[in-house]
Amino acid sequence: MEKIILIATSNEGKVREMEKAFAGLPVRLVPLSRIHEILPDASEIKEPVEDGATFMENACIKARCYREQTGLAALADDSGLAVEALGGAPGVRSARYAGMHGDDAANNAKLIADLRICGEENAAAAYHCALVLALEDGHELTAEGTCSGYIRPEARGTGGFGYDPYFYLSDGRSMAELTCEEKHEISHRGTALKRMKVQLEKFLRTR
Ligand code: IMP
Repeated sequence: MEKIILIATSNEGKVREMEKAFAGLPVRLVPLSRIHEILPDASEIKEPVEDGATFMENACIKARCYREQTGLAALADDSGLAVEALGGAPGVRSARYAGMHGDDAANNAKLIADLRICGEENAAAAYHCALVLALEDGHELTAEGTCSGYIRPEARGTGGFGYDPYFYLSDGRSMAELTCEEKHEISHRGTALKRMKVQLEKFLRTR
C-alpha cells in the first residue's frame, strides 16, 4: 500500500523537486495545498512558528508541527544562504533578510549592500538545506545538503529563485543560469533529497 507523506511547504517549486526526487517510491506525496483531499477538516491546522537557531531545528519544528496536528508522516525542509564575511548571515533569516518574508528583490539588495560595506566583491558563501521526515510513530529521518559558491554584485540568469542570480559556482555560472535539472544535480536541496531518498527506501523495505 502507498504510504501518504504530507509535504509541509506551500512553495510549489519545492513540491515539484520533492515529487521528482521520490518518483518511483511507493509513496503518495500530498502538498499542504491539497491536504483537503485526505483531511476535510484541515482548515483548523495551524502554521508553526519557525524560531529555531539552525536550519535543522526549523525543519524539525515544521515537520513535527504538521505530524502532530494531522497524524500523518510529514516532510519539511528549511534552507537558506550563509555568507562567511557576514558571519553566516542571512542564515535562518534568509527568507526575511530585508524584513518582509519572501521579498527576493529586497533581500538581494540588502545582501549586496552589506557586502559592499565589507568591501567584498567575491564573498565565499554556501546554500544549506535541512530535511526532516517526521513519521507517524515518532521516528524521524533527517538529511542535509550544502552547495558552495560566491556572492558577486552582478546579477546573471533568469532561472531559480531567491539569491540565485547573485550566487556563482566555481565554473563562473550563476545558479540562475542553470537548468532545473542542472540545479537539482548540485544544489543543497538536491543533495539533501537524494540522501533522504536513500533513507526512505531503507525504511520502506524494513517496515
Ligand atoms: P525557506 O526554506 O522556504 O524558509 O526559504 C528560505 C530562503 O532561503 C528562501 O526564501 C530564499 O531566500 C533562500 N533560498 C533557499 N534555497 C534557495 C535556492 O535554492 N536558491 C536561492 N535562494 C534560496
